[in-house]
Amino acid sequence: MEFIDLKAQQAALKPELDSRIAAVLAHGRYIMGPEVRELEERLEEYTGARHCITVSSGTDALLISLMALGVGPGDEVITTPFTFVATAEVIVFLGATPVFVDIEPETCNIDANRIEAAITPKTKAIIPVSLYGQPSDMDEINAVALKYGGIPVIEDAAQSFGARYKSRKSCNLSMIGCTSFFPSKPLGGYGDGGAIFTSDDEIAQACREIGVHGQSERYVHTRIGVCGRLDTLQAAILLAKLERFDWEVEQRMLIGRRYNELMDEAGIERVRQKDDRSSVFAQYTIFTDDRQAVQEKFKDAGIPTAVHYPVPLNEQPAYKQTGMGNTPFSKEKSKQVISLPMSPYLTADDQQVVVRMLTVGYL
Ligand SMILES: *Cc1c(COP(=O)(O)O)cnc(C)c1O
Repeated sequence: MEFIDLKAQQAALKPELDSRIAAVLAHGRYIMGPEVRELEERLEEYTGARHCITVSSGTDALLISLMALGVGPGDEVITTPFTFVATAEVIVFLGATPVFVDIEPETCNIDANRIEAAITPKTKAIIPVSLYGQPSDMDEINAVALKYGGIPVIEDAAQSFGARYKSRKSCNLSMIGCTSFFPSKPLGGYGDGGAIFTSDDEIAQACREIGVHGQSERYVHTRIGVCGRLDTLQAAILLAKLERFDWEVEQRMLIGRRYNELMDEAGIERVRQKDDRSSVFAQYTIFTDDRQAVQEKFKDAGIPTAVHYPVPLNEQPAYKQTGMGNTPFSKEKSKQVISLPMSPYLTADDQQVVVRMLTVGYL
């Protein structure tokens, strides 16, 4: 059993992948080739956002977004400590301070009710993370942002591309949405990649320029930028992968629901999903008070597991000095979470095996 079965996906998509890659090798426009814009158009259509700007990684999507908003030294950005390091890394990299707000223990997403108390005149952005593939309470977060003069909200949707919140798609739930095409993400390439989504024309233009060295036209650098382009080859691979993406999202939801039923029957605590949104289950994550024993049991059986994430960011050595925040639920959950094999290609039999491992411990 694989943790994420990319081989089964590749087998299913081989002809599309081969012809897309061959087309790039034939035209040879490896940087900013036609596939890049083609992909952006497809993703605009998919999410409903007016603009998609593809970039070199999910991390760069967040970085470029914050740069477009002018975030810098002295500014504060509210986010969750229970996330991949990139979410806070980009804030500190720009000289701003992450202000960590605790999570809801049921979903492990930022607790929207705690955000208002963290807002100060220095707050320049709020970054909720759609952890494990499920969006946060975006309406509540947008409302509190609006109450304080329209603080920009950036959804870190690195794990949630394809998820829905009410009638809208993840990445199109706030002023800016950022996703990642890292191979193991729900829409993953064969290397690094990411995208920024917004319906704000000015922010879109700023992101486009910043991603190509702050260039507004050839050799005219109107801003400080970065080298943040998506490779044409990655765009071509992602276009091939889009052929099956709707089906994969359906499978993810079906497999997630089946896991939920099995866990509930077995009395195993798990991350909860809210009724008004869907998760794409980038990870399927449960809670256990005896994580080490569970990890060892699975390891002995040759079934891979992972921990997302073992240490809240405000306890990481490099982040301890910055915006500490009192976040007891993040601390508690970081000790309990364990992610199980999950992919659109996971079989019902494999799911049974996983749950039996958790309940009785033999195969
Ligand atoms: C993967 C991930 C990122 C970073 O994406 P990369 O493409 O790896 O740079 C950021 N935030 C979260 C929540 C992620 O899971």
